[in-house]
Amino acid sequence: MATSRPTTQHHQVTPGQAAPGVLIVDDEPLNRAVLEHLLNSNGINTIQGKNGQEAIALSTDPNVKIDLILLDISMPDINGIQVLRLLRQVRSQMELPIIMVTSADDNAQLVEAFRNGANDYITKPIEPQVTLARIDSQLKLKHAQSALRDSEERYALASRGTNDGLWDWNLATGEIYFSERWKTMLGLPEHQPIDQFSDWVAFMHPEDVIRVQDDLETHLCGESEQFQTELRLLHQEEGYRWMLCRGLAVRNRAGSAVRIAGSLTDITDGKVADALTGLPNRLLFQDRVQRCLDQARRYPSRKFAVLYLDVDGFKLINDNYGHEAGDRFLVQFARRLETSVRNCDSAVSRLGGDEFAVLVENMTDYSSAEAVADRILEVLEAPFQVGGTEFFARASIGISTISDRGNTAAEVLREADTAMYFAKKNVHVPFKYFSPELNAETLARLELSSELRRALEQEELVLHYQPIVETDSYKIAGFEALIRWESARLGTVLPDQFIPVAEETGLIVPIGEWVLQTACETMHRLRDDNLPSPMISVNVSIKQLDSEGFVESVLRVLETTGFEPSRLKLEVTESVVMEDPEQAIKRLELLRAAGVTIGLDDFGTGYSSLAYLHHLPLNILKIDRSFVSQMVETSSSFAIVKTIARLADSLDLDVIAEGVETEQQLTLLEEMGCRYSQGYLFSQAVPESEIRGLLEKHGRA
Ligand code: C2E
Ligand code: CA
Ligand code: CA
Repeated sequence: MATSRPTTQHHQVTPGQAAPGVLIVDDEPLNRAVLEHLLNSNGINTIQGKNGQEAIALSTDPNVKIDLILLDISMPDINGIQVLRLLRQVRSQMELPIIMVTSADDNAQLVEAFRNGANDYITKPIEPQVTLARIDSQLKLKHAQSALRDSEERYALASRGTNDGLWDWNLATGEIYFSERWKTMLGLPEHQPIDQFSDWVAFMHPEDVIRVQDDLETHLCGESEQFQTELRLLHQEEGYRWMLCRGLAVRNRAGSAVRIAGSLTDITDGKVADALTGLPNRLLFQDRVQRCLDQARRYPSRKFAVLYLDVDGFKLINDNYGHEAGDRFLVQFARRLETSVRNCDSAVSRLGGDEFAVLVENMTDYSSAEAVADRILEVLEAPFQVGGTEFFARASIGISTISDRGNTAAEVLREADTAMYFAKKNVHVPFKYFSPELNAETLARLELSSELRRALEQEELVLHYQPIVETDSYKIAGFEALIRWESARLGTVLPDQFIPVAEETGLIVPIGEWVLQTACETMHRLRDDNLPSPMISVNVSIKQLDSEGFVESVLRVLETTGFEPSRLKLEVTESVVMEDPEQAIKRLELLRAAGVTIGLDDFGTGYSSLAYLHHLPLNILKIDRSFVSQMVETSSSFAIVKTIARLADSLDLDVIAEGVETEQQLTLLEEMGCRYSQGYLFSQAVPESEIRGLLEKHGRA
């Protein structure tokens, strides 16, 4: 029967929680034993099930703790797919991850398994590292999700116990009831006899009175859903405090307000401190910097510096593990920052999002700023533990050291921010000092963007076309459109230089539309009497996919050019897909429904998740150049290419290998069954005038 063998070894999988329990279901005793040994020796408890019936009995037994199931597909009687289907009726993919175990040639079964809610799969013979990695990633996902639920419950509890003051105003008599708490919040005795609006107004900051009355009026006459205003009220001992005042009117049948009641919340701390981390916020920080600037003007020997920090890759944490995990990470990050500057005269602030700042005061010389930066980078080296998941965080730091430029506090911050931006761009430079030259570089970027604006009108943009060939026959299956900019003023500018600027400025939207239009027109002209136009692959940037009218603009181009939708392929990158997954997927699905093909570009470089891939409306995976170029020399690159090819096959996707430069690479790719290739070995991207020649020489696939 089932055996449960806990282990005492330190486990390496999903740190920070009790050892996870995995149910191994397989009809072969040997397979079960192999898996059990592997998992136990990595700190995972296991339970075994020798057939489908046992699997179902165990995983629905409330006394058995199962975090994940490894489920063999082919078993006598009830097979893995049937078990999966039954279990999915009672437990979701999040509650109980199920990884299918299959033999390598079982593609049809795999597709069926994914359709029925499998989270992932591994193939026999078992590869230990792959198996552990997949189990780990499923457990981490599950854990992040449940941490999120817990914290939501805590939040609900906390808000019930709040310390708000209450007020209730009878509009007919003009009398207001103020709760005892309301009064103590202003430092008044509990029985202070106040019951009129005029009493209340007497505590208000003179600058706020008119606004409060306006907001109140707007709600009472029915123009706003809720009365809500922020105002300052005078506390007996502590001076003015910021309050959030909310209320809701009760109306008679005619709709006139007869009563209004609501709450009062002290938000002073939130006004100066960041609510999440408790650190001083931007306003307060700027205030301190200003004081330093004033001092430095009076005592020129006093030196100080502002460090501007931005967490690298924070968005990834947020997107993949949820905002709750992101928040917890930020809190830990803030604590580490505080630790790292404990020994010097300094202040740490959260400026917003994943941006922090440190003010270092009373420095003897500017190298102390650098020492602080070094120390910060050092304390960030240890991994962060968030909800059982480990993250490594890096930060980019910009430093502004001033006194002679006579700036304002806001300018000092902006300079440090500019320096940070340059530190971020260069992975080898962890921090960077601000210098006026950086402003010059920023200006150069600005110039690039204003030149780019003109490039479209001046017709300086051109498309080149790189053939995509069938790996075995070497015939041309289609082309990828690659943009080039021949600037009258700047010379040739490469896409890697100006596409990011186009994305930042939003110019990518009109440029992208132009690319699409031009590419389709060009290909349409290449129709031969009996032959359809070649396929065209067009790169689509994240900003395009994010823009409202993207789907419409693609459909419009197809209509006006008469280009067949089935000949158009859009290449998106993984990051594109991750930014706002739901919207992106919806838009891609619409386009696919219209007959357009969707390819995932640079595959392998971003965040790749099998479970995720299977939700994307994809037809093609494009293996990134970096793997192809290394596949002959580096075994890990070879393994990655091979895995991607196999993965694509099992998900019924076509594969294009990009950056093929040597015969050796081509041979390996052909052996792997990688259907399409693209790269300098065949041809670089060529201008439109050379396309026909290529087609005639090599033939169409
Ligand atoms: P990508 O989509 O990965 O495009 C492939 C890049 O690899 C192209 O560089 C191509 O010229 C280059 N390449 C192709 N074969 C080989 C090879 O065998 N060896 C080597 N070393 N390189 C090869 P390119 O044209 O400079 O484009 C760079 C990137 O700019 C593209 O990367 C794409 O992300 C972006 N891009 C280009 N055109 C457009 C466009 O119209 N719209 C958007 N949004 N992005 C574009
Ligand atoms: Ca591409
Ligand atoms: Ca690519």
